[in-house]
Amino acid sequence: MQTGKHFLQIPGPTNVPDSVLRAISNPTIDHRGPEFSDMTLRIINLLKNIVKGQNSIPIIFPSSGTGAWEAALVNILSLGDKVLMFETGHFSTLWKNMAHNLGFKVDYVKGDWRSGVDSDRIIEKLSEDNFHEIKAVCLVHNETSTGVTSNISEITKKIKSLQHPAIIMVDTISSLGSIDYQHDNWDIDVTVSGSQKGLMLPPGIAFNFISRKALEYSKSNSYNRSYWDWGEMAKNNASGFFPYTPSTNILFGLDEALKILSKEGLENIFLRHERHAKATQVAVKTWGLEILAINENEYSNSLTGILLEKNVNADHLRNIILEKFNTSLGTGLGKWSGKIIRIGHLGDFNDPMLIGTLSAVEMGLALSEIDHHSGGVTAAMNYLSNK
Ligand SMILES: *Cc1c(COP(=O)(O)O)cnc(C)c1O
Repeated sequence: MQTGKHFLQIPGPTNVPDSVLRAISNPTIDHRGPEFSDMTLRIINLLKNIVKGQNSIPIIFPSSGTGAWEAALVNILSLGDKVLMFETGHFSTLWKNMAHNLGFKVDYVKGDWRSGVDSDRIIEKLSEDNFHEIKAVCLVHNETSTGVTSNISEITKKIKSLQHPAIIMVDTISSLGSIDYQHDNWDIDVTVSGSQKGLMLPPGIAFNFISRKALEYSKSNSYNRSYWDWGEMAKNNASGFFPYTPSTNILFGLDEALKILSKEGLENIFLRHERHAKATQVAVKTWGLEILAINENEYSNSLTGILLEKNVNADHLRNIILEKFNTSLGTGLGKWSGKIIRIGHLGDFNDPMLIGTLSAVEMGLALSEIDHHSGGVTAAMNYLSNK
């Protein structure tokens, strides 16, 4: 039997703060009444701060993040349109497969699942596209399957300097509210996000933040769509309502989560995530293990992927850590299945939680007789006490 709190240190869903859980447990209200519309309008305003997108139109879907991917694609692209995507890992691949299944032509630029988007390759593709056949570029900001964060601001700057009219869509599902992201300043057209990672909510709602340009594009787009259509959503949201039943209680939670986030302050939140990421990296390096991300400037602040030796079964290690120390770590996805573990250090989190998590990993390494040096936790503690 396990006692005490379970350590949910997968990179999403993340730990939900008690006050958010309490908010969610409130009685459901009429989603066509005045109390509800006041809340929606308040939420929409605060959401614009989180995405640094005062000029954006936030759209909230009752769905998982995958639904928000689909919404972004079907509102912008028409059947047979060409879309450029970059292979950062499992999530970019799922988004690519979806685009293909929906009838779009995907140019998927190959990656190594250990690095971020190669902006030069994107620019090369767009420069060759003299007839502007590429209608959209879809990028994942923080690749949750690898722990790699791409430099979106640099990439969009380069794209804009080319004067290519492609719509830029960015998946921020595991970065929003954890790693700096600027919808307006970086000139993003569609930002895709979800509830269950940095926003500290249970799964169940997802977002599109859309620019005026993207909204105009969607109006002339002929792709058949209904549930995901931005038009009715934007019209209803303007007065605080939805065209269909929203996730009322998750929105109660979002209302509370946004209060918590604005109280701490976005920039402080980013620094806290960076500090916890750095302490984790110190621990991994002390253990003598390999961080999956190759480039230090692309290390993710929301999670760390650890690549184990070829003869080690990563899921065996995860199981020991779960059974012995009541701690869930992220599994390897896609081509990293069984080869890596992922430590989530995002959302509602603090120093003792990180040290507890890292201790579980260090004890697990010893119990599974994986070749490593001890002292990773001590090194992380020293890092945290001095920073
Ligand atoms: C979690 C995640 C998704 C998928 O979201 P679901 O809610 O599981 O549909 C997509 N992209 C990234 C980067 C993610 O971290």
